[in-house]
Amino acid sequence: MKEVRTRFAPSPTGFLHIGGFRTAIYSWLLARHYGGSFILRIEDTDQSRKVEGAVKYILEGFEWLGIDIDEGPSREELLKVEPDFEDAPDIGGDYGPYVQSLRLELYQQAADKLIASGHAFRCDCTPEMLQAEREKQLANKEFVGYGGRCRDRNVPADKPHVVRFRMPDEINVSIEDAVKGRVSWDSLPMRDPVLLKSDGFPTYHLAVVVDDYNMRISHSMRADEWLPSAPLHVMLYQALGWEMPVFAHLPNVLGKDGKKLSKRHGATSWSVFRDQGYLPEALLNYTALVGWSPGEGEEQEIFSREELIKRFSLEHVNRAGAVFDYDKLTWMNGVYIRNLSMQEFVKRGRPFLEKAGLKVNQERWHMIAPHVQERVKLLPEIVEKVDFLFKDKIERDLSKMFKKGIDRDIAIRIIDEAIIGLSDLKSWSREEIEKLLRDLAVRLELKPGPMFGVIRIAVTGKMVTPPLFESLEALGRGDTLRRLEEARELVKQCVA
Ligand code: GLU
Repeated sequence: MKEVRTRFAPSPTGFLHIGGFRTAIYSWLLARHYGGSFILRIEDTDQSRKVEGAVKYILEGFEWLGIDIDEGPSREELLKVEPDFEDAPDIGGDYGPYVQSLRLELYQQAADKLIASGHAFRCDCTPEMLQAEREKQLANKEFVGYGGRCRDRNVPADKPHVVRFRMPDEINVSIEDAVKGRVSWDSLPMRDPVLLKSDGFPTYHLAVVVDDYNMRISHSMRADEWLPSAPLHVMLYQALGWEMPVFAHLPNVLGKDGKKLSKRHGATSWSVFRDQGYLPEALLNYTALVGWSPGEGEEQEIFSREELIKRFSLEHVNRAGAVFDYDKLTWMNGVYIRNLSMQEFVKRGRPFLEKAGLKVNQERWHMIAPHVQERVKLLPEIVEKVDFLFKDKIERDLSKMFKKGIDRDIAIRIIDEAIIGLSDLKSWSREEIEKLLRDLAVRLELKPGPMFGVIRIAVTGKMVTPPLFESLEALGRGDTLRRLEEARELVKQCVA
Protein backbone atom coordinates (compact mmCIF):
# COMPACT_ATOMS: atom_id res chain seq x y z
CA MET A 1 0.00 0.00 0.00
CA LYS A 2 1.11 3.50 -0.86
CA GLU A 3 2.16 5.68 2.07
CA VAL A 4 -0.87 7.29 3.62
CA ARG A 5 -0.41 11.04 3.50
CA THR A 6 -3.30 13.20 4.61
CA ARG A 7 -3.53 16.91 4.92
CA PHE A 8 -5.50 19.55 6.65
CA ALA A 9 -5.75 22.64 4.52
CA PRO A 10 -7.41 25.53 6.31
CA SER A 11 -7.95 28.95 4.82
CA PRO A 12 -6.91 31.51 7.43
CA THR A 13 -10.04 33.56 6.88
CA GLY A 14 -11.42 33.24 10.39
CA PHE A 15 -11.03 31.36 13.62
CA LEU A 16 -11.37 27.69 12.88
CA HIS A 17 -14.36 26.13 14.53
CA ILE A 18 -14.86 22.68 15.93
CA GLY A 19 -16.29 21.34 12.66
CA GLY A 20 -13.01 22.29 11.02
CA PHE A 21 -11.10 20.65 13.80
CA ARG A 22 -13.13 17.50 13.27
CA THR A 23 -11.88 17.40 9.66
CA ALA A 24 -8.35 17.80 10.99
CA ILE A 25 -8.89 15.10 13.61
CA TYR A 26 -10.07 12.58 11.02
CA SER A 27 -7.21 13.35 8.66
CA TRP A 28 -4.75 13.04 11.50
CA LEU A 29 -6.31 9.81 12.80
CA LEU A 30 -6.15 8.21 9.37
CA ALA A 31 -2.49 9.14 8.96
CA ARG A 32 -1.63 7.87 12.42
CA HIS A 33 -3.65 4.69 11.96
CA TYR A 34 -1.56 3.72 8.95
CA GLY A 35 1.70 5.09 10.28
CA GLY A 36 1.62 7.73 7.55
CA SER A 37 2.11 11.49 7.57
CA PHE A 38 -0.18 14.31 8.53
CA ILE A 39 0.42 17.56 6.71
CA LEU A 40 -0.69 21.10 7.39
CA ARG A 41 -1.09 23.36 4.40
CA ILE A 42 -2.19 26.95 4.62
CA GLU A 43 -4.58 27.92 1.84
CA ASP A 44 -4.20 31.67 1.82
CA THR A 45 -5.07 32.41 -1.77
CA ASP A 46 -7.90 34.71 -0.83
CA GLN A 47 -5.67 37.44 0.54
CA SER A 48 -8.52 39.89 0.96
CA ARG A 49 -10.19 37.65 3.54
CA LYS A 50 -7.07 36.85 5.52
CA VAL A 51 -7.47 37.13 9.27
CA GLU A 52 -4.34 37.85 11.29
CA GLY A 53 -3.79 35.25 14.00
CA ALA A 54 -5.90 32.55 12.40
CA VAL A 55 -2.95 30.23 11.75
CA LYS A 56 -1.55 30.70 15.23
CA TYR A 57 -4.97 29.86 16.62
CA ILE A 58 -5.09 26.60 14.68
CA LEU A 59 -1.61 25.58 15.75
CA GLU A 60 -2.33 26.33 19.39
CA GLY A 61 -5.54 24.33 19.11
CA PHE A 62 -3.64 21.39 17.65
CA GLU A 63 -1.16 21.52 20.46
CA TRP A 64 -3.89 21.69 23.07
CA LEU A 65 -5.75 18.76 21.53
CA GLY A 66 -2.58 16.72 21.05
CA ILE A 67 -2.70 16.66 17.25
CA ASP A 68 0.88 16.44 16.05
CA ILE A 69 1.94 17.48 12.58
CA ASP A 70 4.59 15.78 10.46
CA GLU A 71 4.94 18.32 7.70
CA GLY A 72 3.88 21.91 7.43
CA PRO A 73 5.10 25.46 7.12
CA SER A 74 8.57 26.33 8.32
CA ARG A 75 8.93 29.12 10.83
CA GLU A 76 10.00 31.43 8.05
CA GLU A 77 6.88 30.59 6.04
CA LEU A 78 4.63 31.10 9.03
CA LEU A 79 6.15 34.49 9.69
CA LYS A 80 5.40 35.48 6.11
CA VAL A 81 1.73 34.73 6.72
CA GLU A 82 1.60 36.12 10.25
CA PRO A 83 4.48 38.48 10.99
CA ASP A 84 3.43 38.81 14.65
CA PHE A 85 3.56 35.06 15.31
CA GLU A 86 6.58 35.33 17.60
CA ASP A 87 6.81 31.76 18.83
CA ALA A 88 5.95 30.25 15.46
CA PRO A 89 7.14 26.64 15.30
CA ASP A 90 9.43 25.40 12.58
CA ILE A 91 7.59 22.44 11.11
CA GLY A 92 8.94 22.09 7.58
CA GLY A 93 9.12 19.07 5.29
CA ASP A 94 10.23 17.87 1.88
CA TYR A 95 7.32 19.22 -0.15
CA GLY A 96 7.24 22.85 0.89
CA PRO A 97 6.51 25.61 0.90
CA TYR A 98 3.33 24.64 2.75
CA VAL A 99 1.68 28.00 2.25
CA GLN A 100 -0.14 28.56 -1.01
CA SER A 101 0.80 32.19 -1.46
CA LEU A 102 4.41 30.99 -1.62
CA ARG A 103 3.71 28.42 -4.34
CA LEU A 104 2.44 30.67 -7.11
CA GLU A 105 4.99 29.44 -9.60
CA LEU A 106 3.66 25.89 -9.38
CA TYR A 107 0.13 27.01 -10.15
CA GLN A 108 1.35 29.07 -13.08
CA GLN A 109 3.22 26.05 -14.45
CA ALA A 110 0.12 23.88 -14.16
CA ALA A 111 -1.99 26.57 -15.84
CA ASP A 112 0.53 26.82 -18.69
CA LYS A 113 0.43 23.07 -19.11
CA LEU A 114 -3.36 23.13 -19.29
CA ILE A 115 -3.33 25.97 -21.81
CA ALA A 116 -0.77 24.15 -23.94
CA SER A 117 -2.91 21.02 -24.04
CA GLY A 118 -6.07 22.98 -24.80
CA HIS A 119 -7.74 22.28 -21.44
CA ALA A 120 -7.58 25.89 -20.38
CA PHE A 121 -7.47 29.29 -22.00
CA ARG A 122 -6.68 32.88 -21.17
CA CYS A 123 -9.58 35.24 -20.83
CA ASP A 124 -9.39 39.02 -20.76
CA CYS A 125 -13.05 39.80 -20.23
CA THR A 126 -13.32 42.71 -17.83
CA PRO A 127 -15.49 42.54 -14.73
CA GLU A 128 -17.81 45.03 -16.40
CA MET A 129 -18.23 42.82 -19.44
CA LEU A 130 -18.96 39.80 -17.28
CA GLN A 131 -21.43 41.77 -15.24
CA ALA A 132 -23.27 42.96 -18.37
CA GLU A 133 -23.35 39.39 -19.65
CA ARG A 134 -24.76 38.22 -16.38
CA GLU A 135 -27.48 40.83 -16.33
CA LYS A 136 -28.52 39.91 -19.83
CA GLN A 137 -28.70 36.23 -18.92
CA LEU A 138 -30.78 37.02 -15.88
CA ALA A 139 -33.15 39.18 -17.89
CA ASN A 140 -33.56 36.44 -20.51
CA LYS A 141 -33.88 33.81 -17.80
CA GLU A 142 -30.92 31.97 -19.28
CA PHE A 143 -28.29 29.90 -17.50
CA VAL A 144 -26.06 32.38 -15.71
CA GLY A 145 -22.37 31.91 -16.33
CA TYR A 146 -19.43 32.65 -18.51
CA GLY A 147 -20.52 32.75 -22.15
CA GLY A 148 -17.26 31.57 -23.67
CA ARG A 149 -16.14 34.76 -25.39
CA CYS A 150 -12.41 34.05 -25.04
CA ARG A 151 -12.44 30.32 -25.56
CA ASP A 152 -10.85 30.57 -28.98
CA ARG A 153 -9.44 34.07 -28.98
CA ASN A 154 -5.93 33.07 -28.01
CA VAL A 155 -5.50 36.00 -25.63
CA PRO A 156 -1.77 36.76 -25.42
CA ALA A 157 -0.03 36.10 -22.12
CA ASP A 158 1.22 39.67 -21.75
CA LYS A 159 -2.29 41.12 -21.57
CA PRO A 160 -4.04 41.15 -18.18
CA HIS A 161 -6.04 37.94 -18.03
CA VAL A 162 -7.40 35.11 -15.99
CA VAL A 163 -7.01 31.44 -16.92
CA ARG A 164 -10.19 29.44 -17.30
CA PHE A 165 -10.79 25.74 -17.55
CA ARG A 166 -12.33 24.68 -20.82
CA MET A 167 -15.32 22.78 -19.57
CA PRO A 168 -16.19 19.93 -21.94
CA ASP A 169 -19.67 19.87 -23.45
CA GLU A 170 -20.31 16.36 -22.28
CA ILE A 171 -19.59 15.50 -18.71
CA ASN A 172 -19.35 12.06 -17.31
CA VAL A 173 -17.38 11.98 -14.10
CA SER A 174 -17.53 9.78 -11.08
CA ILE A 175 -15.51 9.21 -7.96
CA GLU A 176 -15.33 6.40 -5.45
CA ASP A 177 -15.57 8.51 -2.37
CA ALA A 178 -14.23 6.74 0.71
CA VAL A 179 -17.18 8.02 2.72
CA LYS A 180 -19.99 8.68 0.27
CA GLY A 181 -19.38 5.74 -2.02
CA ARG A 182 -19.76 6.17 -5.75
CA VAL A 183 -20.85 9.65 -6.80
CA SER A 184 -21.40 10.54 -10.47
CA TRP A 185 -22.06 13.72 -12.40
CA ASP A 186 -23.30 14.22 -15.94
CA SER A 187 -23.73 17.96 -15.77
CA LEU A 188 -22.25 20.76 -13.73
CA PRO A 189 -23.69 24.10 -12.70
CA MET A 190 -20.57 25.97 -13.83
CA ARG A 191 -19.04 27.08 -17.09
CA ASP A 192 -15.33 27.48 -17.74
CA PRO A 193 -14.42 28.23 -14.12
CA VAL A 194 -11.45 30.44 -13.34
CA LEU A 195 -8.31 28.56 -12.35
CA LEU A 196 -5.83 31.39 -12.10
CA LYS A 197 -6.82 34.95 -11.25
CA SER A 198 -5.36 38.03 -12.91
CA ASP A 199 -3.10 38.68 -9.91
CA GLY A 200 -1.43 35.30 -10.41
CA PHE A 201 -3.18 33.68 -7.47
CA PRO A 202 -4.93 30.40 -8.13
CA THR A 203 -8.52 29.66 -7.20
CA TYR A 204 -9.13 26.83 -4.77
CA HIS A 205 -9.77 24.39 -7.62
CA LEU A 206 -6.39 24.67 -9.26
CA ALA A 207 -4.50 25.06 -6.00
CA VAL A 208 -5.99 22.01 -4.29
CA VAL A 209 -5.21 19.78 -7.28
CA VAL A 210 -1.68 21.06 -7.76
CA ASP A 211 -0.88 20.84 -4.08
CA ASP A 212 -2.47 17.50 -3.30
CA TYR A 213 -0.61 16.07 -6.26
CA ASN A 214 2.74 17.70 -5.53
CA MET A 215 2.57 16.93 -1.85
CA ARG A 216 1.83 13.26 -2.66
CA ILE A 217 -1.44 13.35 -0.74
CA SER A 218 -3.02 9.90 -0.70
CA HIS A 219 -6.38 10.87 0.84
CA SER A 220 -7.97 14.21 0.21
CA MET A 221 -10.26 14.53 3.22
CA ARG A 222 -12.39 17.62 3.40
CA ALA A 223 -15.78 19.00 4.30
CA ASP A 224 -18.93 17.90 2.51
CA GLU A 225 -19.39 21.34 1.00
CA TRP A 226 -16.56 20.57 -1.43
CA LEU A 227 -18.26 17.54 -2.96
CA PRO A 228 -19.87 19.61 -5.78
CA SER A 229 -16.39 20.78 -6.77
CA ALA A 230 -14.96 17.27 -6.88
CA PRO A 231 -15.90 16.59 -10.54
CA LEU A 232 -13.99 19.67 -11.65
CA HIS A 233 -11.01 18.49 -9.65
CA VAL A 234 -11.24 15.06 -11.28
CA MET A 235 -11.25 16.69 -14.71
CA LEU A 236 -8.21 18.73 -13.77
CA TYR A 237 -6.32 15.64 -12.62
CA GLN A 238 -7.21 13.95 -15.88
CA ALA A 239 -6.24 16.95 -17.97
CA LEU A 240 -2.90 17.17 -16.20
CA GLY A 241 -2.36 13.43 -16.48
CA TRP A 242 -1.91 13.10 -12.74
CA GLU A 243 -2.95 10.30 -10.45
CA MET A 244 -5.77 11.28 -8.10
CA PRO A 245 -5.87 10.88 -4.36
CA VAL A 246 -8.73 9.04 -2.70
CA PHE A 247 -11.48 11.52 -1.92
CA ALA A 248 -13.24 11.46 1.43
CA HIS A 249 -15.97 14.04 1.92
CA LEU A 250 -16.81 14.27 5.57
CA PRO A 251 -20.32 14.76 6.93
CA ASN A 252 -21.28 18.11 8.34
CA VAL A 253 -21.23 18.76 12.06
CA LEU A 254 -24.75 19.80 13.06
CA GLY A 255 -26.47 21.31 16.04
CA LYS A 256 -29.34 19.46 17.68
CA ASP A 257 -31.80 21.27 15.42
CA GLY A 258 -30.20 19.67 12.38
CA LYS A 259 -28.66 22.94 11.18
CA LYS A 260 -24.93 23.34 10.62
CA LEU A 261 -23.21 23.89 13.96
CA SER A 262 -22.78 27.56 14.73
CA LYS A 263 -22.28 29.84 17.71
CA ARG A 264 -26.03 29.80 18.22
CA HIS A 265 -25.71 26.24 19.45
CA GLY A 266 -22.97 26.93 21.98
CA ALA A 267 -19.20 27.03 21.97
CA THR A 268 -17.60 26.33 18.64
CA SER A 269 -13.99 27.39 19.17
CA TRP A 270 -11.46 25.17 20.87
CA SER A 271 -10.40 27.97 23.19
CA VAL A 272 -13.97 28.54 24.35
CA PHE A 273 -14.29 24.85 25.19
CA ARG A 274 -11.01 25.10 27.08
CA ASP A 275 -12.15 28.16 28.99
CA GLN A 276 -15.43 26.46 29.85
CA GLY A 277 -13.44 23.70 31.53
CA TYR A 278 -13.49 20.91 28.98
CA LEU A 279 -10.43 18.69 28.91
CA PRO A 280 -8.70 18.39 25.55
CA GLU A 281 -8.77 14.59 25.70
CA ALA A 282 -12.53 14.62 26.25
CA LEU A 283 -13.09 17.08 23.42
CA LEU A 284 -10.89 15.02 21.12
CA ASN A 285 -12.69 11.80 22.05
CA TYR A 286 -16.15 13.28 21.71
CA THR A 287 -15.47 15.18 18.49
CA ALA A 288 -14.08 12.02 16.89
CA LEU A 289 -17.40 10.34 17.60
CA VAL A 290 -19.38 13.06 15.84
CA GLY A 291 -19.64 11.33 12.49
CA TRP A 292 -17.63 8.22 13.21
CA SER A 293 -18.24 5.14 15.31
CA PRO A 294 -16.03 2.14 15.80
CA GLY A 295 -18.61 -0.14 14.22
CA GLU A 296 -22.11 -1.50 14.23
CA GLY A 297 -23.41 -2.37 17.68
CA GLU A 298 -20.29 -1.04 19.42
CA GLU A 299 -21.20 0.47 22.75
CA GLN A 300 -17.80 1.81 23.74
CA GLU A 301 -17.61 5.58 23.81
CA ILE A 302 -14.54 6.37 25.83
CA PHE A 303 -11.47 6.06 23.66
CA SER A 304 -8.00 7.16 24.54
CA ARG A 305 -5.99 8.88 21.86
CA GLU A 306 -4.17 5.59 21.18
CA GLU A 307 -7.40 3.64 20.91
CA LEU A 308 -8.87 6.19 18.51
CA ILE A 309 -5.81 5.83 16.33
CA LYS A 310 -6.07 2.06 16.46
CA ARG A 311 -9.79 1.89 15.74
CA PHE A 312 -10.30 4.72 13.27
CA SER A 313 -11.33 3.82 9.75
CA LEU A 314 -13.03 5.65 6.92
CA GLU A 315 -15.55 2.82 6.47
CA HIS A 316 -17.25 3.83 9.66
CA VAL A 317 -17.54 7.52 8.96
CA ASN A 318 -21.22 8.49 8.53
CA ARG A 319 -22.44 9.59 5.18
CA ALA A 320 -24.95 12.01 6.60
CA GLY A 321 -24.46 14.97 8.93
CA ALA A 322 -23.81 14.20 12.57
CA VAL A 323 -25.05 16.04 15.62
CA PHE A 324 -22.71 17.65 18.12
CA ASP A 325 -24.43 17.07 21.43
CA TYR A 326 -23.07 19.40 24.10
CA ASP A 327 -24.74 17.47 26.92
CA LYS A 328 -23.04 14.30 25.83
CA LEU A 329 -19.72 16.09 25.66
CA THR A 330 -20.23 17.45 29.16
CA TRP A 331 -21.05 13.99 30.44
CA MET A 332 -17.93 12.64 28.80
CA ASN A 333 -15.88 15.44 30.29
CA GLY A 334 -17.06 14.36 33.75
CA VAL A 335 -15.87 10.83 33.01
CA TYR A 336 -12.49 12.17 31.94
CA ILE A 337 -12.22 14.36 35.01
CA ARG A 338 -12.92 11.41 37.29
CA ASN A 339 -10.29 9.38 35.47
CA LEU A 340 -7.56 11.95 36.00
CA SER A 341 -4.90 11.15 38.55
CA MET A 342 -5.18 13.26 41.70
CA GLN A 343 -2.02 15.09 40.78
CA GLU A 344 -3.35 15.92 37.36
CA PHE A 345 -6.72 17.04 38.66
CA VAL A 346 -5.05 19.36 41.15
CA LYS A 347 -2.88 20.77 38.38
CA ARG A 348 -5.68 21.31 35.88
CA GLY A 349 -8.16 22.69 38.36
CA ARG A 350 -5.88 25.31 39.85
CA PRO A 351 -5.95 27.79 36.92
CA PHE A 352 -9.74 27.94 37.16
CA LEU A 353 -9.53 28.85 40.84
CA GLU A 354 -6.99 31.51 40.04
CA LYS A 355 -9.04 32.87 37.18
CA ALA A 356 -11.90 33.28 39.65
CA GLY A 357 -9.65 35.62 41.62
CA LEU A 358 -8.89 33.21 44.46
CA LYS A 359 -5.52 33.09 46.18
CA VAL A 360 -4.98 29.36 46.08
CA ASN A 361 -3.36 27.71 49.05
CA GLN A 362 -1.88 24.60 47.49
CA GLU A 363 -2.06 22.51 50.67
CA ARG A 364 -5.75 23.17 51.16
CA TRP A 365 -6.49 22.61 47.49
CA HIS A 366 -4.63 19.33 47.62
CA MET A 367 -6.57 18.18 50.65
CA ILE A 368 -10.02 18.99 49.30
CA ALA A 369 -9.43 18.09 45.65
CA PRO A 370 -10.25 14.36 45.98
CA HIS A 371 -13.62 15.30 47.41
CA VAL A 372 -14.61 17.47 44.48
CA GLN A 373 -13.08 15.48 41.65
CA GLU A 374 -15.96 13.02 41.75
CA ARG A 375 -18.55 15.74 41.65
CA VAL A 376 -17.76 18.00 38.71
CA LYS A 377 -18.36 17.71 35.01
CA LEU A 378 -16.64 20.96 34.10
CA LEU A 379 -13.57 22.34 35.80
CA PRO A 380 -14.99 25.78 36.71
CA GLU A 381 -17.59 24.02 38.86
CA ILE A 382 -14.89 23.49 41.46
CA VAL A 383 -14.77 27.22 42.18
CA GLU A 384 -18.21 27.34 43.72
CA LYS A 385 -17.46 24.23 45.76
CA VAL A 386 -14.15 25.21 47.33
CA ASP A 387 -13.85 28.98 47.20
CA PHE A 388 -14.53 29.22 50.95
CA LEU A 389 -11.07 27.74 51.49
CA PHE A 390 -9.37 30.62 49.75
CA LYS A 391 -11.30 33.65 50.90
CA ASP A 392 -10.54 35.92 53.83
CA LYS A 393 -14.17 36.84 54.25
CA ILE A 394 -17.18 34.74 53.49
CA GLU A 395 -20.84 35.67 53.13
CA ARG A 396 -23.44 33.77 55.14
CA ASP A 397 -27.20 33.63 54.96
CA LEU A 398 -27.84 32.82 58.62
CA SER A 399 -31.56 32.36 58.14
CA LYS A 400 -30.72 29.09 56.39
CA MET A 401 -29.56 27.69 59.74
CA PHE A 402 -32.92 28.10 61.38
CA LYS A 403 -34.91 25.09 60.41
CA LYS A 404 -35.71 21.62 61.65
CA GLY A 405 -35.75 22.56 65.30
CA ILE A 406 -32.79 24.95 65.21
CA ASP A 407 -33.46 28.40 66.62
CA ARG A 408 -31.13 31.21 67.52
CA ASP A 409 -30.27 29.95 71.00
CA ILE A 410 -29.62 26.43 69.86
CA ALA A 411 -27.45 27.69 67.03
CA ILE A 412 -25.41 29.74 69.49
CA ARG A 413 -25.08 26.74 71.77
CA ILE A 414 -23.92 24.50 68.89
CA ILE A 415 -21.35 27.04 67.83
CA ASP A 416 -20.14 27.61 71.39
CA GLU A 417 -19.71 23.94 72.06
CA ALA A 418 -18.05 23.37 68.71
CA ILE A 419 -15.56 26.14 69.43
CA ILE A 420 -14.66 24.62 72.78
CA GLY A 421 -14.42 21.07 71.46
CA LEU A 422 -12.52 21.89 68.30
CA SER A 423 -10.05 24.09 70.19
CA ASP A 424 -9.22 21.17 72.43
CA LEU A 425 -8.89 18.51 69.75
CA LYS A 426 -5.61 16.73 70.10
CA SER A 427 -5.02 16.39 66.39
CA TRP A 428 -6.71 18.29 63.57
CA SER A 429 -7.77 15.32 61.53
CA ARG A 430 -10.95 14.43 59.73
CA GLU A 431 -11.56 11.48 62.06
CA GLU A 432 -11.18 13.52 65.22
CA ILE A 433 -13.35 16.33 63.89
CA GLU A 434 -16.06 13.90 62.92
CA LYS A 435 -16.01 12.11 66.27
CA LEU A 436 -16.22 15.35 68.17
CA LEU A 437 -19.14 16.74 66.17
CA ARG A 438 -21.08 13.48 66.23
CA ASP A 439 -20.64 13.21 69.97
CA LEU A 440 -21.81 16.79 70.28
CA ALA A 441 -25.01 16.05 68.39
CA VAL A 442 -25.72 13.19 70.75
CA ARG A 443 -24.97 15.29 73.80
CA LEU A 444 -27.20 18.14 72.61
CA GLU A 445 -29.86 15.65 71.55
CA LEU A 446 -29.91 17.03 68.03
CA LYS A 447 -30.22 15.32 64.73
CA PRO A 448 -26.78 15.40 63.05
CA GLY A 449 -28.11 16.80 59.77
CA PRO A 450 -29.46 20.14 60.96
CA MET A 451 -26.66 20.50 63.50
CA PHE A 452 -23.97 19.99 60.90
CA GLY A 453 -25.88 22.48 58.75
CA VAL A 454 -25.26 25.16 61.38
CA ILE A 455 -21.53 24.45 61.41
CA ARG A 456 -21.40 24.27 57.64
CA ILE A 457 -23.05 27.65 57.15
CA ALA A 458 -21.02 29.20 59.97
CA VAL A 459 -17.70 28.04 58.56
CA THR A 460 -18.24 27.97 54.78
CA GLY A 461 -21.28 30.17 54.20
CA LYS A 462 -22.75 27.40 52.05
CA MET A 463 -25.58 24.92 52.33
CA VAL A 464 -23.72 22.41 50.22
CA THR A 465 -20.01 21.77 50.35
CA PRO A 466 -17.60 18.93 49.89
CA PRO A 467 -17.97 16.63 52.91
CA LEU A 468 -18.06 18.76 56.07
CA PHE A 469 -15.31 17.14 58.12
CA GLU A 470 -12.92 17.14 55.20
CA SER A 471 -13.81 20.76 54.55
CA LEU A 472 -12.94 21.76 58.13
CA GLU A 473 -9.79 19.69 58.04
CA ALA A 474 -8.64 21.44 54.86
CA LEU A 475 -9.54 24.89 56.19
CA GLY A 476 -7.42 24.29 59.27
CA ARG A 477 -8.08 24.89 62.95
CA GLY A 478 -7.27 28.60 63.01
CA ASP A 479 -9.65 29.68 60.28
CA THR A 480 -12.36 27.26 61.39
CA LEU A 481 -12.38 28.70 64.90
CA ARG A 482 -12.20 32.27 63.64
CA ARG A 483 -15.19 31.74 61.40
CA LEU A 484 -17.16 30.01 64.14
CA GLU A 485 -16.53 32.95 66.45
CA GLU A 486 -17.49 35.43 63.81
CA ALA A 487 -20.68 33.48 63.06
CA ARG A 488 -21.55 33.35 66.78
CA GLU A 489 -21.49 37.12 66.98
CA LEU A 490 -23.63 37.41 63.88
CA VAL A 491 -26.16 34.89 65.13
CA LYS A 492 -26.38 36.78 68.40
CA GLN A 493 -27.44 39.84 66.49
CA CYS A 494 -30.31 37.92 64.90
CA VAL A 495 -33.75 38.68 66.23
CA ALA A 496 -34.77 35.67 68.32
N1 GLU B 1 -9.13 25.68 2.25
C1 GLU B 1 -10.31 24.90 2.25
C2 GLU B 1 -11.20 25.33 3.40
O1 GLU B 1 -10.70 25.90 4.37
C3 GLU B 1 -9.95 23.46 2.47
C4 GLU B 1 -10.57 22.51 1.57
C5 GLU B 1 -9.76 21.24 1.49
O2 GLU B 1 -9.49 20.65 2.54
O3 GLU B 1 -9.39 20.85 0.41
O4 GLU B 1 -12.37 25.09 3.39
